[in-house]
Parts: sequence; structure tokens; C-alpha cells
Amino acid sequence: MTIRKKLIVGNWKMNKTSADAVTLVQELVAEVCKQTDVEVVVAPPFTAIEAVGKVLDGSSLKLGAQNVHPEASGAYTGEISVGMLRAIFTNYVILGHSERRTYFKETDAFINQKVLASLKGQLKPILCVGETLAEREGNQTLKVVQTQLEAGLEGVSKDLATSVVIAYEPVWAIGTGKVATTEQAQEVHAFIRSLLVKLFGDAVAQKVRILYGGSMKPANAPELLTQKDIDGGLIGGASLESRSFVDLIKAAAAAK
Ligand code: PEP
Repeated sequence: MTIRKKLIVGNWKMNKTSADAVTLVQELVAEVCKQTDVEVVVAPPFTAIEAVGKVLDGSSLKLGAQNVHPEASGAYTGEISVGMLRAIFTNYVILGHSERRTYFKETDAFINQKVLASLKGQLKPILCVGETLAEREGNQTLKVVQTQLEAGLEGVSKDLATSVVIAYEPVWAIGTGKVATTEQAQEVHAFIRSLLVKLFGDAVAQKVRILYGGSMKPANAPELLTQKDIDGGLIGGASLESRSFVDLIKAAAAAK
């Protein structure tokens, strides 16, 4: 029996106006606000985050952001700080997503600064790691994941490590409809757990949640979520509609 509570995170990316986001989160709250078996987080775009937070207030669902800047304030046009997110009760932040690594050229070092700043400000980082198709085909998967994980967690103390969530997201499975097989996913998750043991010791590593992300849907979730080291999902497309997101939460609640 695992000590880790399952975690389902909806990454809405650059979708939904504030009004649309409020409608969606009202539907979610109506369906799952009382359930406590699974921790549920929604990460709307910044323009909707405060309005969504107000709907979540008093429910068991939590608020996430899709990015943050490592500096506390200053001349960083277009950016948002940890303090700004905490002031509106944001609990989690998605960092190192492959779309940010690819389109915005975010490096492991910059992602690490964000991880450290988030932890310092009591914002829980969801650190995304994962290989491209070329890297998988070149047998580089574990090496890529190890580099991203170790660099992203550089300087994180044992005490704070349990506040970190890792998301394994094979880049070739994100938004493509191609899902990693349960064996492929579990192999990488177990490898990540072994790296966490080396970095922080076994007791801490057993508490860190490792999510799978990449075309997770209600149909494939039950098998993925029953794997020993898969502690939940980071969901893109299937989080944009309440029916499929609620079904994923139910799949996580049923997965023991
Ligand atoms: C993601 O972007 O984190 C993701 C997993 O997207 P999707 O579920 O659409 O593949």
C-alpha cells in the first residue's frame, strides 16, 4: 500500500477565456469537490487564475500555475513572480514543460532557478522531464531524464524535496494521442524513483509523487495509474472538458 496520495493535474495551457475557465471549474467543483481520495489541481492560463481560484475556494481542489519567474519582482516584462501567485493562493506551478523548453528555450539551469524560488516561496513545483522521439529511438531516454532531473533539482534540500512533484512526460506522447505503454512508463518512473533515492534517501524518495503525462485519457488511465511508481497524471487535452477530467479523477481514485 503506497503512502503517496494520487495527484491529478489539469494543464489548460493557452486555452479558455476567464469566463470559459470559470464555467469549467464550476462543473468540476460540482462533481468532485467532496472527494478527498485524490488530490486535484487545475492550472488555468494567468488571465483566468484568480477567477478560478475564487471558485475553488472552500473546495478540495487546488490551484496551479503554468509558469513562474525566479526573481521576486522587477523589470521582467510579461513575467509573474512566486509572491504574486501565492497572494492569490496558488499551490502548485508546472515547471520545465517540454513546450517551454522547446518554444521558449528554457534551460535546465533556468528551470532549476524557478524550482528553488518556488520552494522558497512555498509554491510546490511540478518538474517536467522527458525525452523526444529521436532520443528514445537513440536509446537516450534514461540519460536525458537523469540530466533534466538532476539539473532541475540541484540545490533542493532533503526537507523540501517532498514538496516537489515530478512529471515524466515523453515529448512524443504529448498532445499526439500516442501514449507510452505501461511498461515504458513504469520503467522510467522506477528509474526516476531510484535517482530520487540517490539524491535524497529512500524515506524521502518514497514520498515524492511522480506523475505520467502524455495523452492520458479515461481509457488508458486505469492501467497506467495502477503501476507501482505512477502516482497520478499531468493532463493536457483531456482536462479541457469536465466529463473526461472527472473520469480521470475517478480512475485515479479507483487505482490502488
Ligand atoms: C501536457 O501537456 O502536459 C500533456 C500531457 O498534454 P496531453 O495530455 O494533451 O498529451
